[in-house]
Amino acid sequence: MSNIVIVFDFDKTIIDCDSDNWVIDELGFTDLFNQLLPTMPWNSLMDKMMMELHSEGVTIGDIEKVLHRIPIHNRIIPAIKSAHALGCDLRIVSDANMFFIQTILKHLEISDYFSEINTNPGYVNQEGRLRILPYHDFNKAPHGCTLCPPNMCKGLVIDRIHNSISEDNNKRFIYLGDGAGDYCPSLRLTERDFMMPRKNFPVWDLMCKDPSLIKAEIHAWCDGKELEHTLMKLIKKIIIEEHAQFISSECRPQNLSIPMLESLPKVLPIRP
Ligand SMILES: [Mg+2]
Ligand SMILES: [Zn+2]
Repeated sequence: MSNIVIVFDFDKTIIDCDSDNWVIDELGFTDLFNQLLPTMPWNSLMDKMMMELHSEGVTIGDIEKVLHRIPIHNRIIPAIKSAHALGCDLRIVSDANMFFIQTILKHLEISDYFSEINTNPGYVNQEGRLRILPYHDFNKAPHGCTLCPPNMCKGLVIDRIHNSISEDNNKRFIYLGDGAGDYCPSLRLTERDFMMPRKNFPVWDLMCKDPSLIKAEIHAWCDGKELEHTLMKLIKKIIIEEHAQFISSECRPQNLSIPMLESLPKVLPIRP
């Protein structure tokens, strides 16, 4: 296990579209969705739309079939598998919902690569209707973050992950995301972390307004190919840095072999 925690957004980061829009559009409910959108928060609207779908006779099986066709760039799964093979702890933080994400990950056979999924609850109720609930119950206890939608503050999720592993605080984060909701967590990263925003997407635009607010090193990407390349580069960079530190503080370099690094392609030589 390395000391690297990789946090992925889901929509337009792991998959190449927004899963909510994909389901609504593919099942032919776009007009109703657009008509209701100004009247309620997105997350509440998704729950209402699932009720509409159910009352129009759309089954859970129909929704699953649509999710199984979701577009994903062909380098994303290899990137996830390589990062996992290098010992990174992979987690998802998403404003989609548990039902959509689990259905897609299971279909792509990549569920086991992730240690945690933080998202809005989504489950099939007794009537066979999909319910989608907020991650934070904003009626009972608003999260208080002005940057984020009422149902989910991804920054608070990052804080929780930080705290849950704080006894081992040499952990280093790589965060990947595209949306406005990924801006808040990017502000919580430290100088030792890495932010990978999707170039020319909302999180990128927000970061460009005042890059000095981001303490983490910024590495943008535009598609799955660049995501894979950049992610692998950063993982190797961190592994080399950590081993270099270990060598200088603990060991005589001539006596040390680093099997993990030897297996990496195009690894930079470590100078004693
Ligand atoms: Mg996204
Ligand atoms: Zn927030």
